[in-house]
Amino acid sequence: MIHVAVFGNSKWSCLMKEILENEYSALFIQDGGEAITVDAFVVSGEPGQEFEISVQEFVRRYALGELTAIVIPKEYYMQQNELVLALLREGVEVHDIYDGIRLDPQIRNRPEAVACLITPMLHDPYLPYLEYHVADHCNLNCKYCTHYSPLVPQPVYTDYERFSADLRQLKKYIADIGVIRILGGEPLLNPELGRFIELTRELYPASIITVVTNGMLIDRLDPALIETMKKSMAFFHISFYPPLQDKVQGIREFLYEQGIPYTITPMITEFNKIQTMKPHQDEDFFYGCFQASCTCLHEGKVAPCYAPFTTKYFNEAFGQELPVDEGIDLYDDALTAPVLKAELLIPMRRCMYCTAGKACSWEIIGKDSALEDWVE
Ligand code: SF4
Ligand code: SF4
Repeated sequence: MIHVAVFGNSKWSCLMKEILENEYSALFIQDGGEAITVDAFVVSGEPGQEFEISVQEFVRRYALGELTAIVIPKEYYMQQNELVLALLREGVEVHDIYDGIRLDPQIRNRPEAVACLITPMLHDPYLPYLEYHVADHCNLNCKYCTHYSPLVPQPVYTDYERFSADLRQLKKYIADIGVIRILGGEPLLNPELGRFIELTRELYPASIITVVTNGMLIDRLDPALIETMKKSMAFFHISFYPPLQDKVQGIREFLYEQGIPYTITPMITEFNKIQTMKPHQDEDFFYGCFQASCTCLHEGKVAPCYAPFTTKYFNEAFGQELPVDEGIDLYDDALTAPVLKAELLIPMRRCMYCTAGKACSWEIIGKDSALEDWVE
């Protein structure tokens, strides 16, 4: 008997447990394997039910050999990267982490689908999360913006043709993505945003597509973009900063009338100042950094976060030399999907310049900011 755990406690985790223990086990035994039993559901917070255990408890039972693997259903696309990094930090071997397929009760009647129910994470051509910029500059210029948008000296738009080639190249390695977030800077500044959305939907038909915006331009949306978003089933995620306060109710009503789904954060009144010029050597810092879950695509490369691609603005503004030459080259002939996925789990040199940060009041910064405004 093989003892495993499944992440989460939703209906998807329950369905995964049932199929693993029944249809999948039956196929596995036919092929000379052993029956699989799911001993626990692993939850991120405090366990609430008897069958639930925390990530720490999973790690303890894994170290004792009581649990041999964890299965993460694809429905947990927003938690997966962070969870995997936490498991690796605690000593769980990457080959004991499995992706589940997109679940649907009907697959129980399809042996060919059941046979693919789980895949070792590194060998699954799937990313839970991807983000990309369509504009590096922004119309809000928040102090401590982690993407350095206030330091972008003039408007910088992502080149559509270049991006199109890059996304097609990524598709050779990554067949499916949980959620794709289109952001910046401010994505609504890019007049070609609709083309990016359409291409993303064409190449990744099952993904959730979100445009992450500060909302300041939503009441001036081009009707053509509204149609594209509806047709492409893309929705908005609005980061609610104080200047949006007087507009927010109108935006809610407008998006409701237009039939575009959206989420909106509570008002953001604090930012974290996370950058230091005193490099640390703490490799584990990466494994606890929530932004290390934000796989980013930019100019032919992917990286665990945006920093390798936007730090150039910081360097140029203040004459610094923080690392900017990292990221995985999608056009490298030696690249394979497992290599790509494994490299996303390795700390970057750029990580030495990030700290846990200090909470500071949100404010707008002028174009003439100083180095001290940005670093701890
Ligand atoms: S709205 Fe977002 S992208 Fe724009 S400056 Fe603020 S944090 Fe940066
Ligand atoms: S550079 Fe590393 S530590 Fe800094 S935000 Fe990105 S992943 Fe996190």
